[in-house]
Amino acid sequence: MTAEIINGKALADELRNEMKVEVEELKKQGIYPHLTVVLVGDNPASKSYVNGKEKACRETGISSDLIELPTSITEEELLALIERLNQDSAVHGILVQLPLPTHIREQQIIETIHPNKDVDGFHPISIGRMMAGMNTFLPCTPFGIVTMLQSKHIPMEGKHAVIIGRSNIVGKPVGQLLLNENATVTYCHSRTKDLQQFTKQADILIVAVGKPNAIHANDIKEGATVIDVGINRLEDGSLTGDVDFESAKEKAAFITPVPRGVGPMTITMLLKNTIKAAEGLEKL
Ligand code: NDP
Repeated sequence: MTAEIINGKALADELRNEMKVEVEELKKQGIYPHLTVVLVGDNPASKSYVNGKEKACRETGISSDLIELPTSITEEELLALIERLNQDSAVHGILVQLPLPTHIREQQIIETIHPNKDVDGFHPISIGRMMAGMNTFLPCTPFGIVTMLQSKHIPMEGKHAVIIGRSNIVGKPVGQLLLNENATVTYCHSRTKDLQQFTKQADILIVAVGKPNAIHANDIKEGATVIDVGINRLEDGSLTGDVDFESAKEKAAFITPVPRGVGPMTITMLLKNTIKAAEGLEKL
């Protein structure tokens, strides 16, 4: 069997075209969706992510501005900036690019962003609402993954979803969203014993480890759906995921590539959340 490739880039383009129309409609009503991105320091990977987000906003008709701050900024100063953005009615979404310098407590910053502007979906209120299955801003990568599964009509209900990775931004929330879709969910992580015993049972295998070739064909069940979240840069500068794509695609029924897989969907869900924030559907 050769797997059907879930082209995240193509789906992202399709969704962004629909969003362009939504944004036009909002503008006719006098609502101009706006995202403010805050970048602290000069981490090249963070800069490149931020540039990608700004470009995607522009292409969708969403306005954005980037506030670049030196690494030396204090936590107090950053908190004061967020408070100001919380009060600014022209700003619908606030995104503070992570990671932050170690002298700033990330959790403190995340909790200061007003939940109505929490387009990353990282605020504990957003997480709690997600857990309760309520309407909220969903974290972008997990939201993108579920949207990809839905786009291919891949059943989730009653299926065994195995998640490798338990970060707050990917592993934990994607498991929660799959549980909300009535999947049976198993979480694996670095302390899991005999990982393969679990991965081989997966109807849906989500790999969010951050290590190239963490998963091979012999780790997966024939006909599984394999979602590769990993983004790893190789020495030659090319990008690769966590899954050995060439071998896994001969055994899976569906598989996502890297690049052009989960990555473009993550940014697309950020746009979706920003539009939702502008529409004011998420008022607490
Ligand atoms: P983290 O480093 O926060 O989490 C990695 C997880 O993998 C941890 O839970 C860790 O376990 C687990 N792990 C590490 N080694 C093993 C192993 N050998 N066996 C089983 N589990 C293991 O990463 P993130 O969740 O933030 O990101 C994961 C990957 O996804 C990265 O490559 C990142 O770049 C990428 N990413 C991609 C996005 C996209 O849009 N496509 C968005 C966000 C991230 P433990 O908790 O025990 O340490």
